Amino acid sequence: MVNRRPLIAGNWKMNFDHLRSIAFVQKLGWTLKDAKYSSAQVEVALFPPFTDIRSVQTTIEADRMDFAFGAQDLSAFDSGAHTGDISGEFLAKLGCTYVIVGHSERRSDHGEDDAVVAAKTAAAIRHRLVPIICVGETREDRDAHGASAVPVAQLRTVLGSLSKDADIVVAYEPVWAIGSGEAATPGEAQEVCAALRETLQEVMGEPAAERTRILYGGSVNSQNIASFMREKDVDGALVGGASIDVDEFSRIVQFPKHIIA
Ligand code: PEP
Repeated sequence: MVNRRPLIAGNWKMNFDHLRSIAFVQKLGWTLKDAKYSSAQVEVALFPPFTDIRSVQTTIEADRMDFAFGAQDLSAFDSGAHTGDISGEFLAKLGCTYVIVGHSERRSDHGEDDAVVAAKTAAAIRHRLVPIICVGETREDRDAHGASAVPVAQLRTVLGSLSKDADIVVAYEPVWAIGSGEAATPGEAQEVCAALRETLQEVMGEPAAERTRILYGGSVNSQNIASFMREKDVDGALVGGASIDVDEFSRIVQFPKHIIA
């Protein structure tokens, strides 16, 4: 029996200073409380900029909100002469549960390749953070090799160095769908997520493939979330643009109402 709790993750990217982050989290808390949100049904995780994390942590703790949070990146190193980098150790001390690794904007803006993503994934695990490993193809990759080839190859590289019991989340984010308003179809997302689960099974074994959540990301909004969540191998969403609109994000979190209806 497959029982993977859906995860809706909000990647704020480089938006909101720490004061705005507090206002956002408070409003999200009230809105979802009014909507009778239950974290047992859907897990919510917020990914603010580094400078907001402490404020998000204290706001969540003060109001006893049932939200997880994490960082958008971490250093592959644990400490030392790495100016501007942030250690996983510091993130763990701030109460982060998750950290995003390999987001396509890190890959393109900072030249992070699969080896760097693998090293950051290993660093996350060393500090008991759950890495959300992002993979996805460009439009050119898709035209040349089909949708699954590049995401599967990216994931295989990262999984190569992990132990079979590593606690990870995978996010399938087609690069062409990120921030474009052109989401993949649910069928396209399912096809690639199924290929990623097969890869998890081959490399890490059946139990890991069964328990690991695979998210879809790329122009998710409150209108299309339910159609993705109906797919067998889609266990949640990594949401960018729509995650900084508190009303829209709270509607996305409430997707089960639309599935049951
Ligand atoms: C993202 O940045 O991870 C993302 C999915 O962005 P958007 O939802 O805006 O496409």
